[in-house]
Amino acid sequence: MLELISHVVRISARRDRTEINSAMVDTLIGLFHPQNLTIYRCYVGNKKAMVFACAGYGPNGQFLRNAYLPDHRFCQPIERDPLLNRCRKELSAVIDFLDDGSHRIVFPVLRLNEPIYLIELTLTDEFSADHRVTLMGLIEYFGNHISLLDYGEADTLTGLASRKTFDKHLFELLGKAASDEMLSGPESRRRGSPSSSHWLAVCDIDHFKQVNDNFGHLIGDEVLIMLAQEMRQSFRFDDQLFRFGGEEFIALLQPTEEQFALATLERFRGNVEKQMFSRVGRITVSIGFSALMPNDTPTDVIDRADEALYFAKRNGRNRVDCYEKLVASGDVAAKEIAKGEVELF
Ligand code: GH3
Ligand code: MG
Ligand code: MG
Repeated sequence: MLELISHVVRISARRDRTEINSAMVDTLIGLFHPQNLTIYRCYVGNKKAMVFACAGYGPNGQFLRNAYLPDHRFCQPIERDPLLNRCRKELSAVIDFLDDGSHRIVFPVLRLNEPIYLIELTLTDEFSADHRVTLMGLIEYFGNHISLLDYGEADTLTGLASRKTFDKHLFELLGKAASDEMLSGPESRRRGSPSSSHWLAVCDIDHFKQVNDNFGHLIGDEVLIMLAQEMRQSFRFDDQLFRFGGEEFIALLQPTEEQFALATLERFRGNVEKQMFSRVGRITVSIGFSALMPNDTPTDVIDRADEALYFAKRNGRNRVDCYEKLVASGDVAAKEIAKGEVELF
Protein backbone atom coordinates (compact mmCIF):
# COMPACT_ATOMS: atom_id res chain seq x y z
CA MET A 1 0.00 0.00 0.00
CA LEU A 2 2.73 2.47 1.01
CA GLU A 3 4.76 1.47 -2.02
CA LEU A 4 1.77 2.12 -4.26
CA ILE A 5 1.19 5.55 -2.77
CA SER A 6 4.82 6.55 -3.13
CA HIS A 7 4.69 5.58 -6.81
CA VAL A 8 1.52 7.59 -7.36
CA VAL A 9 3.12 10.60 -5.67
CA ARG A 10 6.10 10.32 -8.00
CA ILE A 11 3.89 10.20 -11.10
CA SER A 12 1.80 13.12 -9.90
CA ALA A 13 4.91 15.29 -9.48
CA ARG A 14 5.72 15.15 -13.20
CA ARG A 15 4.52 17.77 -15.69
CA ASP A 16 5.80 16.38 -18.95
CA ARG A 17 4.52 13.43 -20.99
CA THR A 18 7.96 11.86 -21.34
CA GLU A 19 8.67 12.13 -17.62
CA ILE A 20 5.23 10.83 -16.68
CA ASN A 21 5.82 7.81 -18.93
CA SER A 22 9.13 7.19 -17.23
CA ALA A 23 7.54 7.31 -13.75
CA MET A 24 4.74 5.02 -14.95
CA VAL A 25 7.25 2.46 -16.28
CA ASP A 26 9.11 2.50 -12.92
CA THR A 27 5.81 2.00 -11.13
CA LEU A 28 4.64 -0.91 -13.26
CA ILE A 29 8.01 -2.65 -13.04
CA GLY A 30 8.17 -2.06 -9.28
CA LEU A 31 4.70 -3.40 -8.56
CA PHE A 32 4.10 -6.12 -11.15
CA HIS A 33 7.57 -7.28 -12.35
CA PRO A 34 6.48 -7.75 -15.96
CA GLN A 35 8.65 -9.67 -18.41
CA ASN A 36 7.88 -7.02 -21.01
CA LEU A 37 6.17 -3.70 -20.82
CA THR A 38 5.33 -1.14 -23.49
CA ILE A 39 3.47 2.15 -23.30
CA TYR A 40 2.10 3.03 -26.73
CA ARG A 41 0.79 6.41 -27.68
CA CYS A 42 -2.16 6.09 -30.10
CA TYR A 43 -2.91 8.32 -33.05
CA VAL A 44 -6.35 7.61 -34.43
CA GLY A 45 -6.87 9.48 -37.68
CA ASN A 46 -9.88 9.27 -39.97
CA LYS A 47 -8.10 6.80 -42.20
CA LYS A 48 -5.80 4.73 -40.04
CA ALA A 49 -4.61 4.26 -36.49
CA MET A 50 -0.94 4.25 -35.57
CA VAL A 51 0.82 3.33 -32.35
CA PHE A 52 4.13 4.70 -31.14
CA ALA A 53 6.08 2.64 -28.58
CA CYS A 54 7.23 5.54 -26.42
CA ALA A 55 8.32 3.90 -23.17
CA GLY A 56 8.76 0.48 -21.64
CA TYR A 57 10.87 -2.39 -20.54
CA GLY A 58 12.12 -5.48 -22.36
CA PRO A 59 15.03 -7.86 -22.81
CA ASN A 60 17.37 -4.88 -23.33
CA GLY A 61 16.22 -3.06 -20.23
CA GLN A 62 14.19 0.10 -19.94
CA PHE A 63 13.60 2.44 -22.85
CA LEU A 64 12.19 5.92 -23.01
CA ARG A 65 11.55 8.12 -26.01
CA ASN A 66 10.38 11.68 -26.42
CA ALA A 67 6.61 11.30 -26.05
CA TYR A 68 5.92 14.59 -27.86
CA LEU A 69 7.53 13.74 -31.16
CA PRO A 70 6.77 10.24 -32.45
CA ASP A 71 9.89 8.58 -33.75
CA HIS A 72 9.13 6.79 -37.04
CA ARG A 73 11.31 3.84 -36.26
CA PHE A 74 9.01 2.89 -33.39
CA CYS A 75 5.66 3.64 -35.01
CA GLN A 76 3.46 1.06 -36.69
CA PRO A 77 -0.11 0.67 -37.92
CA ILE A 78 -2.15 -0.76 -35.07
CA GLU A 79 -3.48 -3.58 -37.28
CA ARG A 80 -0.04 -5.08 -37.36
CA ASP A 81 -0.53 -6.32 -33.80
CA PRO A 82 -3.86 -8.18 -33.48
CA LEU A 83 -3.98 -7.87 -29.69
CA LEU A 84 -3.45 -4.10 -29.76
CA ASN A 85 -6.05 -3.86 -32.48
CA ARG A 86 -8.55 -5.86 -30.46
CA CYS A 87 -7.99 -3.60 -27.48
CA ARG A 88 -8.62 -0.56 -29.63
CA LYS A 89 -11.87 -2.04 -30.96
CA GLU A 90 -13.21 -3.43 -27.68
CA LEU A 91 -12.07 -0.40 -25.66
CA SER A 92 -11.34 -2.63 -22.70
CA ALA A 93 -8.52 -4.81 -21.39
CA VAL A 94 -7.68 -7.80 -23.60
CA ILE A 95 -5.55 -10.81 -22.84
CA ASP A 96 -3.61 -13.36 -24.86
CA PHE A 97 -2.18 -16.56 -23.33
CA LEU A 98 1.21 -17.48 -24.73
CA ASP A 99 2.60 -21.00 -25.18
CA ASP A 100 5.24 -20.58 -22.48
CA GLY A 101 2.56 -20.03 -19.84
CA SER A 102 2.94 -16.26 -19.70
CA HIS A 103 0.23 -13.87 -20.84
CA ARG A 104 0.06 -10.54 -22.59
CA ILE A 105 -2.47 -8.03 -21.30
CA VAL A 106 -3.25 -4.74 -23.01
CA PHE A 107 -5.15 -1.94 -21.28
CA PRO A 108 -6.52 1.10 -23.07
CA VAL A 109 -6.32 4.64 -21.71
CA LEU A 110 -9.47 6.24 -23.03
CA ARG A 111 -10.59 9.76 -23.75
CA LEU A 112 -14.02 10.35 -25.30
CA ASN A 113 -14.16 6.69 -26.29
CA GLU A 114 -10.88 6.84 -28.17
CA PRO A 115 -7.73 5.19 -26.87
CA ILE A 116 -4.98 7.78 -26.34
CA TYR A 117 -2.53 5.24 -24.92
CA LEU A 118 -2.30 1.46 -24.80
CA ILE A 119 -0.33 -0.20 -22.04
CA GLU A 120 0.93 -3.72 -22.65
CA LEU A 121 2.38 -6.05 -20.03
CA THR A 122 3.69 -9.58 -20.35
CA LEU A 123 3.34 -11.37 -17.03
CA THR A 124 4.49 -14.82 -16.00
CA ASP A 125 2.79 -15.16 -12.62
CA GLU A 126 -0.85 -15.69 -11.98
CA PHE A 127 -2.49 -12.33 -11.94
CA SER A 128 -4.73 -12.04 -8.88
CA ALA A 129 -7.98 -10.10 -8.82
CA ASP A 130 -6.36 -7.64 -6.38
CA HIS A 131 -3.49 -7.06 -8.76
CA ARG A 132 -5.89 -6.48 -11.57
CA VAL A 133 -7.86 -3.88 -9.62
CA THR A 134 -4.66 -2.08 -8.59
CA LEU A 135 -3.35 -2.07 -12.15
CA MET A 136 -6.60 -0.78 -13.62
CA GLY A 137 -6.79 1.96 -10.99
CA LEU A 138 -3.21 3.01 -11.76
CA ILE A 139 -3.86 3.12 -15.47
CA GLU A 140 -6.97 5.21 -14.96
CA TYR A 141 -4.99 7.57 -12.77
CA PHE A 142 -2.25 7.79 -15.42
CA GLY A 143 -4.88 8.69 -18.05
CA ASN A 144 -6.42 11.37 -15.85
CA HIS A 145 -3.03 12.90 -15.16
CA ILE A 146 -2.16 13.02 -18.88
CA SER A 147 -5.57 14.54 -19.65
CA LEU A 148 -5.02 17.30 -17.10
CA LEU A 149 -1.63 18.00 -18.59
CA ASP A 150 -3.04 18.11 -22.14
CA TYR A 151 -5.85 20.36 -21.01
CA GLY A 152 -3.35 22.82 -19.55
CA GLU A 153 -1.21 22.79 -22.68
CA ALA A 154 -3.89 22.97 -25.37
CA ASP A 155 -5.25 26.09 -26.97
CA THR A 156 -8.73 26.45 -25.49
CA LEU A 157 -10.45 27.50 -28.72
CA THR A 158 -9.10 25.00 -31.25
CA GLY A 159 -7.72 22.22 -29.05
CA LEU A 160 -4.42 22.32 -30.97
CA ALA A 161 -1.20 22.58 -28.98
CA SER A 162 -0.68 26.13 -27.80
CA ARG A 163 2.24 28.48 -28.04
CA LYS A 164 3.15 27.43 -24.51
CA THR A 165 4.25 24.00 -25.68
CA PHE A 166 5.75 25.16 -28.95
CA ASP A 167 9.17 26.04 -27.51
CA LYS A 168 9.30 22.74 -25.64
CA HIS A 169 8.59 20.80 -28.85
CA LEU A 170 11.07 22.79 -30.87
CA PHE A 171 13.89 22.65 -28.34
CA GLU A 172 13.48 18.87 -28.10
CA LEU A 173 13.50 18.66 -31.86
CA LEU A 174 16.53 20.91 -32.26
CA GLY A 175 18.37 18.98 -29.58
CA LYS A 176 17.56 15.79 -31.43
CA ALA A 177 18.51 17.21 -34.83
CA ALA A 178 21.87 18.25 -33.43
CA SER A 179 22.55 14.88 -31.79
CA ASP A 180 21.45 12.94 -34.88
CA GLU A 181 23.93 14.94 -36.87
CA MET A 182 26.69 14.30 -34.39
CA LEU A 183 26.00 10.59 -34.31
CA SER A 184 25.78 9.93 -37.98
CA GLY A 185 26.97 12.99 -39.85
CA PRO A 186 24.80 15.26 -41.95
CA GLU A 187 24.85 12.88 -44.91
CA SER A 188 22.86 10.16 -43.25
CA ARG A 189 19.76 11.79 -41.84
CA ARG A 190 16.92 9.43 -41.23
CA ARG A 191 15.18 9.43 -44.56
CA GLY A 192 18.39 8.89 -46.39
CA SER A 193 18.84 12.08 -48.33
CA PRO A 194 21.06 14.97 -47.25
CA SER A 195 18.33 17.41 -48.31
CA SER A 196 15.84 15.77 -45.95
CA SER A 197 15.14 17.90 -42.88
CA HIS A 198 12.40 18.99 -40.53
CA TRP A 199 10.36 21.93 -41.77
CA LEU A 200 8.53 24.67 -39.97
CA ALA A 201 5.55 26.28 -41.69
CA VAL A 202 3.72 29.42 -40.58
CA CYS A 203 0.16 29.65 -41.85
CA ASP A 204 -1.90 32.84 -41.65
CA ILE A 205 -5.52 33.35 -42.73
CA ASP A 206 -5.89 35.89 -45.52
CA HIS A 207 -7.94 39.01 -44.77
CA PHE A 208 -9.21 37.56 -41.54
CA LYS A 209 -9.97 41.01 -40.17
CA GLN A 210 -12.70 41.25 -42.80
CA VAL A 211 -14.27 38.02 -41.55
CA ASN A 212 -14.54 39.53 -38.07
CA ASP A 213 -15.71 42.87 -39.42
CA ASN A 214 -18.39 41.34 -41.67
CA PHE A 215 -19.62 38.45 -39.51
CA GLY A 216 -18.52 39.21 -35.96
CA HIS A 217 -15.96 37.67 -33.64
CA LEU A 218 -18.01 34.59 -32.76
CA ILE A 219 -18.23 33.52 -36.38
CA GLY A 220 -14.54 34.40 -36.70
CA ASP A 221 -13.84 31.99 -33.84
CA GLU A 222 -15.88 29.30 -35.59
CA VAL A 223 -13.72 29.71 -38.69
CA LEU A 224 -10.61 29.23 -36.53
CA ILE A 225 -12.06 26.00 -35.10
CA MET A 226 -12.92 24.69 -38.56
CA LEU A 227 -9.50 25.59 -39.88
CA ALA A 228 -7.86 23.67 -37.02
CA GLN A 229 -10.00 20.64 -37.95
CA GLU A 230 -8.95 20.92 -41.57
CA MET A 231 -5.36 21.13 -40.44
CA ARG A 232 -5.67 17.90 -38.44
CA GLN A 233 -7.08 16.17 -41.48
CA SER A 234 -4.58 17.50 -43.98
CA PHE A 235 -1.38 16.70 -42.09
CA ARG A 236 0.05 13.37 -41.02
CA PHE A 237 -0.39 12.07 -37.49
CA ASP A 238 3.22 12.79 -36.63
CA ASP A 239 3.37 16.37 -37.88
CA GLN A 240 2.98 18.70 -34.91
CA LEU A 241 0.33 21.41 -35.15
CA PHE A 242 0.03 24.56 -33.05
CA ARG A 243 -2.14 27.62 -32.78
CA PHE A 244 0.54 30.22 -32.44
CA GLY A 245 -1.41 33.43 -32.14
CA GLY A 246 -4.78 34.85 -33.15
CA GLU A 247 -5.19 33.55 -36.70
CA GLU A 248 -1.72 32.16 -37.11
CA PHE A 249 -0.91 28.45 -37.05
CA ILE A 250 2.33 26.51 -37.15
CA ALA A 251 3.06 23.06 -38.52
CA LEU A 252 6.29 21.25 -37.67
CA LEU A 253 6.84 18.66 -40.37
CA GLN A 254 8.74 15.40 -39.98
CA PRO A 255 11.95 15.04 -42.01
CA THR A 256 11.36 15.05 -45.72
CA GLU A 257 12.65 16.75 -48.84
CA GLU A 258 11.62 20.23 -49.85
CA GLN A 259 9.39 19.06 -52.69
CA PHE A 260 7.38 16.79 -50.37
CA ALA A 261 7.07 19.47 -47.69
CA LEU A 262 5.81 21.82 -50.39
CA ALA A 263 3.34 19.21 -51.67
CA THR A 264 1.95 18.65 -48.15
CA LEU A 265 1.49 22.36 -47.55
CA GLU A 266 -0.01 22.89 -51.01
CA ARG A 267 -2.48 20.12 -50.34
CA PHE A 268 -3.54 21.81 -47.10
CA ARG A 269 -3.81 25.21 -48.80
CA GLY A 270 -5.95 23.65 -51.53
CA ASN A 271 -8.20 21.86 -49.01
CA VAL A 272 -8.85 25.16 -47.24
CA GLU A 273 -9.61 26.91 -50.51
CA LYS A 274 -12.18 24.23 -51.41
CA GLN A 275 -13.97 24.13 -48.06
CA MET A 276 -17.13 26.09 -47.19
CA PHE A 277 -16.67 27.81 -43.83
CA SER A 278 -20.34 27.91 -42.75
CA ARG A 279 -21.80 31.40 -43.17
CA VAL A 280 -18.48 32.93 -44.18
CA GLY A 281 -18.10 30.81 -47.30
CA ARG A 282 -14.60 30.58 -48.71
CA ILE A 283 -11.42 31.61 -46.98
CA THR A 284 -7.81 31.20 -48.02
CA VAL A 285 -4.49 30.90 -46.21
CA SER A 286 -0.94 31.98 -47.01
CA ILE A 287 1.97 29.83 -45.87
CA GLY A 288 5.70 30.38 -45.51
CA PHE A 289 8.10 27.60 -44.59
CA SER A 290 11.76 26.98 -43.91
CA ALA A 291 14.07 24.09 -43.04
CA LEU A 292 15.11 23.55 -39.45
CA MET A 293 18.86 23.85 -38.97
CA PRO A 294 20.81 22.28 -36.10
CA ASN A 295 21.98 25.59 -34.66
CA ASP A 296 18.63 27.34 -34.89
CA THR A 297 16.84 28.90 -31.98
CA PRO A 298 13.03 28.85 -32.26
CA THR A 299 13.12 32.54 -33.24
CA ASP A 300 15.60 31.94 -36.08
CA VAL A 301 13.47 29.42 -37.91
CA ILE A 302 10.20 31.29 -37.28
CA ASP A 303 11.75 34.48 -38.64
CA ARG A 304 12.74 32.71 -41.86
CA ALA A 305 9.32 31.10 -42.31
CA ASP A 306 7.73 34.51 -41.57
CA GLU A 307 9.86 36.10 -44.26
CA ALA A 308 8.48 33.62 -46.78
CA LEU A 309 4.96 34.23 -45.43
CA TYR A 310 5.29 37.99 -45.99
CA PHE A 311 6.44 37.28 -49.51
CA ALA A 312 3.32 35.16 -50.07
CA LYS A 313 1.18 37.98 -48.65
CA ARG A 314 2.82 40.59 -50.87
CA ASN A 315 2.44 38.41 -53.94
CA GLY A 316 -1.26 37.68 -54.07
CA ARG A 317 -1.93 35.57 -50.91
CA ASN A 318 -3.44 32.05 -51.07
CA ARG A 319 -0.01 30.63 -51.85
CA VAL A 320 2.86 28.67 -50.30
CA ASP A 321 6.43 29.96 -50.37
CA CYS A 322 9.68 28.38 -49.27
CA TYR A 323 12.31 30.63 -47.69
CA GLU A 324 15.28 28.70 -49.07
CA LYS A 325 13.84 28.81 -52.57
CA LEU A 326 13.22 32.57 -52.34
CA VAL A 327 16.81 33.14 -51.21
CA ALA A 328 18.13 30.97 -54.03
CA SER A 329 16.09 32.88 -56.61
CA GLY A 330 17.12 36.24 -55.16
CA ASP A 331 13.52 37.16 -54.26
CA VAL A 332 14.48 37.71 -50.65
CA ALA A 333 17.86 38.50 -49.16
CA ALA A 334 19.36 35.81 -46.92
CA LYS A 335 18.79 36.78 -43.29
CA GLU A 336 22.26 35.99 -42.05
CA ILE A 337 25.02 33.46 -42.46
CA ALA A 338 24.04 30.21 -40.82
CA LYS A 339 25.58 30.26 -37.36
CA GLY A 340 27.54 27.08 -37.94
CA GLU A 341 29.44 28.81 -40.71
CA VAL A 342 30.46 31.88 -38.77
CA GLU A 343 34.13 31.78 -37.94
CA LEU A 344 34.84 32.49 -34.31
CA PHE A 345 38.23 33.88 -33.43
P1 GH3 B 1 -3.66 39.36 -44.00
O1 GH3 B 1 -4.20 38.72 -45.23
O2 GH3 B 1 -2.60 40.35 -44.32
O3 GH3 B 1 -3.19 38.37 -43.01
O4 GH3 B 1 -4.85 40.19 -43.38
P2 GH3 B 1 -5.56 39.93 -42.00
O5 GH3 B 1 -6.77 40.78 -41.96
O6 GH3 B 1 -5.77 38.49 -41.77
O7 GH3 B 1 -4.42 40.39 -41.00
P3 GH3 B 1 -4.39 41.19 -39.67
O8 GH3 B 1 -3.18 40.70 -38.94
O9 GH3 B 1 -4.47 42.65 -39.96
O10 GH3 B 1 -5.68 40.77 -38.87
C1 GH3 B 1 -5.77 39.64 -38.12
C2 GH3 B 1 -7.10 39.67 -37.46
O11 GH3 B 1 -7.33 38.46 -36.75
C3 GH3 B 1 -7.25 40.75 -36.44
C4 GH3 B 1 -8.09 40.16 -35.34
O12 GH3 B 1 -9.34 40.80 -35.31
C5 GH3 B 1 -8.30 38.74 -35.78
N1 GH3 B 1 -8.15 37.79 -34.68
C6 GH3 B 1 -7.02 37.51 -33.99
N2 GH3 B 1 -7.27 36.58 -33.04
C7 GH3 B 1 -8.58 36.26 -33.11
C8 GH3 B 1 -9.44 35.35 -32.40
O13 GH3 B 1 -9.04 34.64 -31.48
N3 GH3 B 1 -10.75 35.30 -32.78
C9 GH3 B 1 -11.21 36.06 -33.80
N4 GH3 B 1 -12.50 35.96 -34.13
N5 GH3 B 1 -10.44 36.91 -34.48
C10 GH3 B 1 -9.14 37.02 -34.15
MG1 MG C 1 -1.80 37.60 -38.85
MG1 MG D 1 -4.13 37.19 -41.58
